[in-house]
Amino acid sequence: MNPDKKWGYCPNCAHSQRFVRVDVNHTFHLVMTMLTLGLWSISWVSAIIGRRITPWRCKHCGSHAPDFTRSIGRRSRDRTNDEQGGV
Ligand SMILES: [Zn+2]
Repeated sequence: MNPDKKWGYCPNCAHSQRFVRVDVNHTFHLVMTMLTLGLWSISWVSAIIGRRITPWRCKHCGSHAPDFTRSIGRRSRDRTNDEQGGV
């Protein structure tokens, strides 16, 4: 299982969705910090803090509020789809 992707309940979508871990592009922020003579470092630090506070993002709607306790998981979801298709 890929640790950067996880199934979870999305309250915005009102059903299980795949969540991806938000990454900070440090190369981009380094270049921007050098181009703006250090001013961009404020944005860089806020991006790092934002990733720590809300590390997961819904792939469908972009929500940052997953509920992993209500997740049914991909395996259960596939089994449910197979059962519906087989009947
Ligand atoms: Zn969503």
